[in-house]
Amino acid sequence: MNSITHSAEPQSQILLNDQKYVWHPYSSLSNPIPAYEVVSAEGVKLRLADGTELIDGMSSWWCTIHGYNHPVLNNAAVQQIGKVSHVMFGGITHAPAVNLCEKLVEITPAGLDKVFLADSGSVAVEVAIKMVFQYWISKGQPEKNKLLSLRNGYHGDTFAAMSVCDPVTGMHHLFEQVVEKHYFAPAPQTGFDQPWDEQDIAEFSQMISDHSHRLAAVILEPVVQGAGGMRFYSPYYLKRVRELCDKHNVLLIADEIATGFGRTGKLFACEWADISPDVLCLGKAITGGYMTLAATLCTDKVSRGICEGEAGCFMHGPTFMGNPLACSVANASIDLLLSADWQSNIQRIESTLKQQLVQFSQLKSVASTRALGAIGVIEMHDPVNMAEIQKQFVEAGVWVRPFGKLVYVMPPFISSDENLIQLMAAIFSVLEP
Ligand SMILES: *Cc1c(COP(=O)(O)O)cnc(C)c1O
Repeated sequence: MNSITHSAEPQSQILLNDQKYVWHPYSSLSNPIPAYEVVSAEGVKLRLADGTELIDGMSSWWCTIHGYNHPVLNNAAVQQIGKVSHVMFGGITHAPAVNLCEKLVEITPAGLDKVFLADSGSVAVEVAIKMVFQYWISKGQPEKNKLLSLRNGYHGDTFAAMSVCDPVTGMHHLFEQVVEKHYFAPAPQTGFDQPWDEQDIAEFSQMISDHSHRLAAVILEPVVQGAGGMRFYSPYYLKRVRELCDKHNVLLIADEIATGFGRTGKLFACEWADISPDVLCLGKAITGGYMTLAATLCTDKVSRGICEGEAGCFMHGPTFMGNPLACSVANASIDLLLSADWQSNIQRIESTLKQQLVQFSQLKSVASTRALGAIGVIEMHDPVNMAEIQKQFVEAGVWVRPFGKLVYVMPPFISSDENLIQLMAAIFSVLEP
C-alpha cells in the first residue's frame, strides 16, 4: 500500500521526460506522481500506451459529452482545417463564430443576447467580472466594485476567478496579499429535492441588503456547485437570489461552465429555477471536449451600459478569440446534442447512476451518495489517497479522478447502461474494504 512501488515501475522515455519537464494540473515537479500515457481514445474508452483500455468516468473534466474521436466532430474539424484554422477576430468575422453566437443566444435562457467568445472557462469568468465592473463604471457608480459569491463555489484559477472561489478550499490563504477581497455567503444547505426553507437564504439576503451599494454582482454556479464540493442545491435558492439581485440593483452572473449543455438534465441549470442571469459563463462541454473554447453571454442592458459609457467599448480581446476550428466543432457538438432526445438520455443515465449508487451506502467509509443528471457522487468520510486510489481505478479498468473526500463520475452522455454499471462496479471494488 505505498506509492513508492508505483514510481519504481519501469517507465518509458515519454513518462521520464514528462516527470522531468512537464507541469500537470496542481502538480509537484519535486515530488511528481506518475501520469498515465494515453495514446488514443474512442467512444467512452481511453487507450493507454501499454494497451490497457479504461472506461472514462470523467469526460475529461466534464467536457467530452459525445465521447472521444466522434466522426461528426472529427469531420467538422477536418472541414474547417481545409478552409481556415485561425484568423484574428479584430476587424474580421466568419461564419463559424457568427453561427455559434446565434445558436448560443437561441438555446440559452431568455434575455442573453450578446456573446463574447473567450478561450477557457477561467477567462470567461474574468470577462464576466470585467463586464459587470465596466457596466457600473459606465453607469457612474464605480464604487460598485465588489462581488458576492457563495462558499463551496469554484470559478477557475486565474486571479479574478480565484477571488470568488471558496475562501477556505480555494487559494485565498496562500495568495492573501494579492487576491482581491469579496463577500461570501454560506453555501446553500437545502438539497436539490428538499422542501424549501426560507432560512437557507437569510444570511445571503442580509449581506446583499447590507452591501448593495458596493456590489457589482452576485456570482454563483446554478444548482450544482462543482469542483468546490459537488453539491446539488434547491433551485428555489437560485430563484430567490434572482429576486434579491433585482430588488437590490445587483447583477447576477451564472457560471454554467460545468453545468451547461445538458449535464444536470436541463440544457442549462438556470432552467431548473426558470431564471435568466444578466451574465452567463459557458465552457467545458461547449466543443464536446475537442478544443478549448468558452463564452460569456450578457443581456442588452449590460452590453448597452458598457458601450454607452466613457470607454465606448468593452475593454477585452484575446488573441485567439473566436477561433474558427473551435467554433466549428462547437457548432457540430451542439447540433449533435440537440438532434437526439438528449433529455431522456440524461434521465436514463441518472436513473442508472442512482441504482448503482445504492450499493455504496453499505460501505462504512462512505458518508453519502447522490446523483443529478449525468453526475454521480460518492462522498467519503475521509479524503482519499489520490496516488494510490488512481492506480487501483486503472487496474480495475476505469478512469476516475477523485478530489478530497469526493469520488464522483461525470460520464460521457454516450455511455451505455452497461458502461455505467461496469464503471460503478469498478469503483465499488476499489472502495470496498
Ligand atoms: C472548470 C470550471 C471553471 C474554469 O474553467 P477552465 O476552463 O478550467 O479555466 C470555471 N467555473 C466552473 C464552474 C468550472 O467548473
